[in-house]
Amino acid sequence: MHCMAKKNILDYNSEELNELLKAHGYPSYRSKQVFKWVQRGVDSFEEMTNVPKDLRAFIDMHYHSGMPKKVRIRESKLDATKKYLFELSDGAVIETVLLVYSYGNTVCISSQVGCRMGCRFCASAQGGLVRDLSPGEMLGQVVAVQRDIGERISNIVIMGSGEPLDNYRNLITFLHLVNSKEGLNIGLRHVTVSTCGLVREIEKLAEEGLPVTLSVSLHAGDDETRKNLMPVARKYKIKEVIAACKKYAEKTGRRITFEYSLIDGVNDSDRDAGKVAELLAGVPCHVNLIPLNPIAEYGYSQSNRDRIMRFKGIVEKHGIPVTVRRELGRDLNGACGQLRASYISEKRPKQ
Ligand code: SAH
Repeated sequence: MHCMAKKNILDYNSEELNELLKAHGYPSYRSKQVFKWVQRGVDSFEEMTNVPKDLRAFIDMHYHSGMPKKVRIRESKLDATKKYLFELSDGAVIETVLLVYSYGNTVCISSQVGCRMGCRFCASAQGGLVRDLSPGEMLGQVVAVQRDIGERISNIVIMGSGEPLDNYRNLITFLHLVNSKEGLNIGLRHVTVSTCGLVREIEKLAEEGLPVTLSVSLHAGDDETRKNLMPVARKYKIKEVIAACKKYAEKTGRRITFEYSLIDGVNDSDRDAGKVAELLAGVPCHVNLIPLNPIAEYGYSQSNRDRIMRFKGIVEKHGIPVTVRRELGRDLNGACGQLRASYISEKRPKQ
């Protein structure tokens, strides 16, 4: 007999689930009950106590709950940050981070297993792209963290491993899912999509009518410097990226966030700051400076505090609001795929 893999129930929205169950003779109030349960996160369908046994058995035969397996959890001793290493149904591992802010619990999710963008300072780039995450696999990260902490997640940032706009269709489906009233019901204004600057997709996203916050990884004030750090800069000039951002801001009425990781002696001079200010003049935006999280293999180091503050001052003098990202969970093996990378290298058989 052919053995079919179970499907992830979190990949379906409430209408699709309704259709699936209706085809097997179940009334729509049943599918609503099931949808509510799975969106809250169940380890086993047995937990759905108000759902009849035969329906639970039917679902269990064809679907899995979409809850990723917790392989490792690290809790910061310095703040409330929590890092999760999750295993998906095919054995792939991804990282998810809980960040606790005064305005609410934020989950930073991965959008792909690995990444093919190849940024020269980022741990997620090291092994290249393994595969895209499905909408339900993105959602599963949020659902699992919410269940783990027993508190509502109010914000999502798609800033973990992967390039969300390189997984465009699944990203859009995911955004609709988290916004679903009977689901997590997270307002899209509370969702941030971070991109290395895929111009065509930024333009497409502007047309979707979804008021998500767009965060663009800039990291340089000129094309030469940017090309050395980010291979994507060979495809799109900074000017094209900025033009797409302007369009996005016009269409959505939302300010753009520009991410800028400061790397000692590479992109952190007064001149660099001046170029950034010039580029962003007239763009409704704010700049978020990120002290580089140094990764041993790359040989880059973090700019010192004085340099960061000077850079900030110069950009601000041109009327652009600048914040320096607080480094939450500093003690947790850094950011951006480092926990996954160290887990994978541990698992690799020793020579
Ligand atoms: N692919 C998306 C989202 C992933 S990374 C993007 O490029 O935006 C989220 C942010 O962290 C990006 O701005 C990325 O450039 C930055 N980043 C990655 N590795 C980093 C490191 N080691 N130190 C500081 N920032 C880093």
